[in-house]
Amino acid sequence: MWISVQQVHQPMETLNFLTEAQAKQAASTIGTPCYIYSRATIEQRAAEVLAFPNAYGFNARYALKANPNIAILKLIENAGLHFDASSEYEVMRCLHAGIPAEKIQLTGQQFPRKFLKQIIEAGVLYNACSLNQLEQFGQAFPGSNVSFRINPGTGSGSNRKTNVGGESASFGIWHEYTDKVQEIADKYDLKITRIHSHIGSGSDPEVWKGVTEMTLAQADKFPLVHTVNLGGGFKVARMSSEKSTDLQEVGEFVKNVFTSHAEKTGNEYKLEIEPGTYLSANCGSLIAEVDDVVDTGDKGYDFLKLNTGMDTITRPALYGSEHPIVVLNDSDKTKDYVICGHCCESGDVFTVDDSDTILPRTVKEAQIGDLVVIEGAGAYCAAMSLKNYNSFPTTPQLLLDNDGSFKTILGEETLDAMFSKEIIPDFA
Ligand SMILES: *Cc1c(COP(=O)(O)O)cnc(C)c1O
Repeated sequence: MWISVQQVHQPMETLNFLTEAQAKQAASTIGTPCYIYSRATIEQRAAEVLAFPNAYGFNARYALKANPNIAILKLIENAGLHFDASSEYEVMRCLHAGIPAEKIQLTGQQFPRKFLKQIIEAGVLYNACSLNQLEQFGQAFPGSNVSFRINPGTGSGSNRKTNVGGESASFGIWHEYTDKVQEIADKYDLKITRIHSHIGSGSDPEVWKGVTEMTLAQADKFPLVHTVNLGGGFKVARMSSEKSTDLQEVGEFVKNVFTSHAEKTGNEYKLEIEPGTYLSANCGSLIAEVDDVVDTGDKGYDFLKLNTGMDTITRPALYGSEHPIVVLNDSDKTKDYVICGHCCESGDVFTVDDSDTILPRTVKEAQIGDLVVIEGAGAYCAAMSLKNYNSFPTTPQLLLDNDGSFKTILGEETLDAMFSKEIIPDFA
């Protein structure tokens, strides 16, 4: 299935927040594979987000789809952030975690079917992502305040699967249809008080500047709008060759657009952003073990097979995302390996690029049983995993607390729990 092999010698990656001793301790506490999240890193990231430059007020929402464990939500709430939920079920998860409804906004591809009344009456903010959603919301709650998500007509993101703006993305209301937004609002006496765009803008301040200008121009069409939400998409470096967004730099660009816009129009908007990746990506590590070492002869490859895979961390198979992989042993030799997962699936390979070409990775020469840490595994990893594929149990999660202790925040999944909802009917 692979067309070519690109031989790139990247520098060896190193551990992120864990020490080697802590990784070993975690592995002996709960076994492998296990996820570990760092409380200190989460708190540090939250503080960086809250320091985002702004002109007329600011609020940050954590896009909880990146990592929705309720312990993580609590830490992020305690740090002072609000939340953006991608479905009514994520809203229910926040409420279950004890987060006040007023701190939660729902921005979903699917209109709530089950808990609509409950969540809106509790005070959750609604962000309509299509004309149909706005219409349905108006019918159910005429006279309410509401936000809408706009597709400003431009996208970003590194490939089609991560691009959430422009003609090829279904997210939000196309920017040419704002007249229809006004029509629906008038019909149901809805008050458009907030406007939202999320195109996954990345780390380039110029892109953020452009999106900010476009979104502010749209906001001006709705006299009751007081808050402009620019979404998330702040890229972070996982691999040492990548570059993280400088929030201060991007924020200064955004702030300047808000200020000069206000000077021209008199409209002073409050700013909201809603990062997911930025808050959580480098707060998590996945600890696994080398389960097997095989090779395919002189012209082939050396493979490391881990005791984890796409059922636990799916981004490499789905996007060709690269994560740092660190082998823990005392060897002073290195070797190039194709590193793969434990699922019976040729796509379960960690060392590929975004065109699905295998990229052997230089790591320490490894033996069966060595611990391996996959870094940058805090966002869209546990959250987006293909849980239970091959009937591997869901990977447990630990929190590394600020005093150095480990706390279990997702226990091991028992076989009973995995099988309990499946039923063999009476075939007689
Ligand atoms: C996913 C999502 C985000 C967060 O995106 P990141 O790239 O993780 O920062 C923010 N807003 C909305 C509406 C989203 O769907």
